[in-house]
Amino acid sequence: MSLIVQKFGGTSVADPEKIRAAARRAIRAQKQGHRVVMVVSAMGKQTDELLRLASAVSEKPPAREMDMLLSTGEQTSVALVAMAIDDLGSKAVSLTGGQFGMKTDNSFSKARIRSIDTGRIEKLLEEGNIVVAAGFQGIDDDLNITTLGRGGSDTTAVALAAVLGADACEINTDVDGVYTTDPRLLPEARRVDVISYDEMLELASLGAGVMHSRSIEFAKKFGVPIHVRSSFSDRDGTMIVAQAESESSPVSGAALTKDEARITVLGVPDVPGMSQMIFSAIAERKVAVDMVVQNVGAEGKADVSFTVPGDELKLTLSALEAILKRIGATGLTHDADVSKVSVVGLGMASQKSVAARMFRALADAGVNIHMITTSEIKISALVPRDQAANALRAVHKAFGLHERPSDAKTWASIQADKSREADVEDVVTRLQNDALEALTLTGISIVGKQARVTLDGVPDHVGVAADMFEEIGRAGIFVDMIVQGYDGVDGSTSVSFTIDEDDLDAGVKVAQSICKTHSMRDVRGAAGITKLSVSGIGLRSHTQVGTVLFEQLANAKINVEMIATSELQVNVVIDSKRGDDAKKCLQSAFAEALG
Ligand code: ADP
Ligand code: ASP
Ligand code: MG
Repeated sequence: MSLIVQKFGGTSVADPEKIRAAARRAIRAQKQGHRVVMVVSAMGKQTDELLRLASAVSEKPPAREMDMLLSTGEQTSVALVAMAIDDLGSKAVSLTGGQFGMKTDNSFSKARIRSIDTGRIEKLLEEGNIVVAAGFQGIDDDLNITTLGRGGSDTTAVALAAVLGADACEINTDVDGVYTTDPRLLPEARRVDVISYDEMLELASLGAGVMHSRSIEFAKKFGVPIHVRSSFSDRDGTMIVAQAESESSPVSGAALTKDEARITVLGVPDVPGMSQMIFSAIAERKVAVDMVVQNVGAEGKADVSFTVPGDELKLTLSALEAILKRIGATGLTHDADVSKVSVVGLGMASQKSVAARMFRALADAGVNIHMITTSEIKISALVPRDQAANALRAVHKAFGLHERPSDAKTWASIQADKSREADVEDVVTRLQNDALEALTLTGISIVGKQARVTLDGVPDHVGVAADMFEEIGRAGIFVDMIVQGYDGVDGSTSVSFTIDEDDLDAGVKVAQSICKTHSMRDVRGAAGITKLSVSGIGLRSHTQVGTVLFEQLANAKINVEMIATSELQVNVVIDSKRGDDAKKCLQSAFAEALG
């Protein structure tokens, strides 16, 4: 008998009528012959309401008590859903996370799933019940209630689907699928039939709130196909699977992280180990850092800039203030009024001038770019917050995201394709270990024969990035990584990009002409660099990856010249002479996660 997991988000159980509708959907599935596990979120805005209550009684509520409080939202809704099912004449049992054996670590408010005991759920299903499981919560070894982080019910649902070997995992929500960007922000966004795990993972962590990004880590790791659909209609929605919608499109989605904050640590001594101290101090607070840019400034001092979610700015600043003296940095600056606009697509890894297209679109819309970072399947630009919506609209249009690609795969073709199914034996073995959400690395690799070109004194004006990368594209040069950040002199910025070593002369020549026409300060080119990549799943949310990587490289006295992070890879640029050493030391440091 097939088993399906149906998750209902907050808006889908916001009032008694919606609760009854969700109950009817589950009963219908059961009547069609499925065993049904529901995963339910707190009603409507209940979690926000509980957070508000907590802040009204305490300025700094203890983390343990916060999770105790927040878990009640889901406890209320599972009981009500089970009552509704009973009233409609079917059998149901509600269970809290602790009751169905959801074991987590003890990091309150960001707990990671360790194991799930399926025995009780299976027994209740056997007895003909619909099991109504509370999303978002678990218990630690000491029976404390923990929560998985905002939006975490998606992760509960996908994790349950994995461990129960479910045939389907439905995410019932208030949109009828995944769109090319948030349809609430951009009405012209297009619903897609299919999106790949990698793209969804990236989009989710870059602000596409439709799925909790950790749920996609899980789905990818265990090959769980996800169906995102509307709670309020019977239409098919979007399948999140291994394949992408289109092979030809460079970009498949755009996202906006509206409340982002930029922090710059000024005057950091440019010696190995300094980035490590900065990022481990932040990682200890479990803050996920993005858009890391390090610029070699004057007199052996560097400025290190990066972004953090706006609501973690305070926490991050306090972590940094505590170590500023110890690392010998001269100061901290920050900007709390910025947003991050990103485009994501598996196709961009093999296509030229994708970044230039994005920068041109932003320039034409009059949007200034403060910072740029790229990685294999995403490009992010930091822009002033008051221009964020404008910026998102411009890039969505530039990549034609409102139009269906001619080679788009359809829902039906994905249904027919069974090749996506994961190797069952392999999944079963991996599910038996006691660390379901543990870090999983797939490889550590180096790409040598790379070169770097750096332009200093780049004016922080609209259109400069577009001009630069269009000209480089016209010269036929394939650009891999791009980073732009503050260079600490007169409010100007510095841009570095990597290219093939054979293109260095041509790259420097183009850069020199750009330098002249735009009155920049300086061009530097360097050959003999290597890109070192650590690949895996969910690397941004596993904040310790960066820490260990920087620590290892610092201990081996290997200097990091550039950094690019994504959900799938952490890339650093280092001196070619140290490439093999670096690879070896990381292989041994990450031996366990490499499996
Ligand atoms: P739930 O309460 O069901 O978990 P969420 O509010 O967490 O629902 O997620 C659904 C919302 O996600 C949608 O209403 C939509 O505004 C937003 N969203 C953001 N990005 C996207 C996207 N790319 N596609 C669809 N919805 C998106
Ligand atoms: N109720 C929790 C939240 O609002 C979890 C969830 O809905 O996924 O974040
Ligand atoms: Mg959600």
